[in-house]
Amino acid sequence: MPTRAFAAASATAPLAPMSIERRPPLASDVEIDILFCGVCHSDLHFARNEWGFTQFPVVPGHEILGRVTRVGSSVRNFKVGDLAAVGCMVDSCRSCDHCKRGLEQFCFGPGGCVFSYNGADKHLGGMTFGGYSEKVVCDEAFTLKVPTTLDPARAAPLLCAGITTYSPLKKWGAGPDGTLKGKKVGIVGLGGLGHMGVKFAHAMGAHTVLFTTSQGKVADGKKLGAHDVVISKDADAMAKHASSFDLIVDTVSADHDINAYMALLKLDGTLVMVGVPPNPQAIHAFSLIMPRRNLAGSLIGGIAETQEMLDFCGKHNVQCDIELIKMQQINEAYERMLKSDVKYRFVIDMASLKG
Ligand code: NAP
Ligand code: ZN
Ligand code: ZN
Repeated sequence: MPTRAFAAASATAPLAPMSIERRPPLASDVEIDILFCGVCHSDLHFARNEWGFTQFPVVPGHEILGRVTRVGSSVRNFKVGDLAAVGCMVDSCRSCDHCKRGLEQFCFGPGGCVFSYNGADKHLGGMTFGGYSEKVVCDEAFTLKVPTTLDPARAAPLLCAGITTYSPLKKWGAGPDGTLKGKKVGIVGLGGLGHMGVKFAHAMGAHTVLFTTSQGKVADGKKLGAHDVVISKDADAMAKHASSFDLIVDTVSADHDINAYMALLKLDGTLVMVGVPPNPQAIHAFSLIMPRRNLAGSLIGGIAETQEMLDFCGKHNVQCDIELIKMQQINEAYERMLKSDVKYRFVIDMASLKG
């Protein structure tokens, strides 16, 4: 099925309209008319080949939310008219140990995890195409249910920014009763991921501290749920928090000094990298050994955990703060994202592509 989309043809080309193919729904597929798609910094890294493995043309977009228009004969959990969402993955082997444990993002079976864009398309050949398009067709096993209490436009970024911060907060932070109560948690960077990290850490009961380079985000950080906001360029302000954090989640997309944050962890504290700066970041051994500290990484979250996160957001009314844009504004949005000028996630109103 020919489908309208926006694609980058090369690392230096602006995104522009392109017609792509989607498969007609197979027995276990859900066809979704895309209403909204969030704009993740990974989309920009991919469109400009900053990680070096983009296959062009690329249609970015993995915060996909829309309405079901058709379902295959064996689909049980979705019907026409439902709200449905697709995040960063559309398939995996489903039988390796990681898949069985609900960690499809780390699938090591045949074909591995198929990402929503720039992944090997098992059905049509070539690469998968993401959510900067009017429709998507996805196996129901990788399709998420969206709580109807959430505003659909504000829910779209949960599919990546939401799960990417929810998952490490749970894994490394879970306190005695499964929450972050009594823990001191830092979030580095107030962008798409960071603003959800602040909201989740607060909602889970942590003493939440935001680290930002932007003086102009201090008031917003507090409004979003941070108990304290530290300007990370201010060495004295940083020093006041030395050796005091249980957990820090680093969402920064550009080169920065990780050692400055490691110094803020207490004994056995953990810094989790979720941001992916294009270059390797230097780490001094003393940052890890004095006193014993952990450096870890985390990639999105599995399908079951993504559903759990969406349900958590429905229950606790956690929604993203967004700026709605037209598809045609995407190149300008990328430039603004690079200047940290977005409060706090761009979301594309896909009606602009269809109109
Ligand atoms: P974003 O909205 O652009 O936010 C990044 C934030 O980092 C900025 O708002 C800014 O916050 C801070 N920052 C930017 N440049 C900086 C610099 N030079 N020094 C220090 N801080 C700087 O991006 P995002 O969509 O949240 O994504 C963040 C990163 O996570 C990207 O690299 C993305 O690819 C990656 N990511 C990873 C996963 C995963 O599964 N691990 C999933 C999604 C995204 P302040 O203005 O507050 O300083
Ligand atoms: Zn993303
Ligand atoms: Zn697998």
